[in-house]
Amino acid sequence: MNIKQIFENNKKWVSEKLKIDKNYFKELSKGQSPEILYIGCSDSRVTAEELMGVQPGDVFVHRNIANMVPNTDLNVMSVINYAVSQLKVNHVVVCGHYYCGGVKAAMQSADLGILNPWLRNIRDVYRLHRDELNSIKDEETKYKRLVELNVQEQCVNVIKTSDVQKAIRERKLTVHGWVFDIHSGNLIDLKIDFDKILEGISEIYHIT
Ligand SMILES: [Zn+2]
Repeated sequence: MNIKQIFENNKKWVSEKLKIDKNYFKELSKGQSPEILYIGCSDSRVTAEELMGVQPGDVFVHRNIANMVPNTDLNVMSVINYAVSQLKVNHVVVCGHYYCGGVKAAMQSADLGILNPWLRNIRDVYRLHRDELNSIKDEETKYKRLVELNVQEQCVNVIKTSDVQKAIRERKLTVHGWVFDIHSGNLIDLKIDFDKILEGISEIYHIT
């Protein structure tokens, strides 16, 4: 892959789109009204649009290391605010993936500089689910489960935001926790029972 090739690919892509619809880019420039906000990992193997088979305009995308939704991260919080309150998406997806380097790094003791505070959020997930995770003897299975539980906790962080709370009440916005299995290419819906999870914590967060 070289940079020159990318611009050649782009030219080819433009002509292919125009062959199907000569107004394609004219229409695209009019605005966006995506149905979905996708929060995923920056991992180069886990694309957003390609693995979902969606087109430009379909999905509002945010990616960071290990698909995190820290409550104090201005970046992800701005994305959620804009997507939910302005673009009025009806679905918010947090998509993790097995073999996530960020999740793996979080559980190792190496000093990773600026990444330390970012990845510490994943250690918090481990601490919250320590009993379940420690009971898993196989290391690979344990990491896979931590990836899933991290998705679950980041979904809870999404639900805790006031924009999402409001949208759930007003238009039944739905939050989804997914995992992409790099090993098979399959997208897995974790079918997380948020009602049950939130029931246990609503007294702390005052979530309605
Ligand atoms: Zn990752």
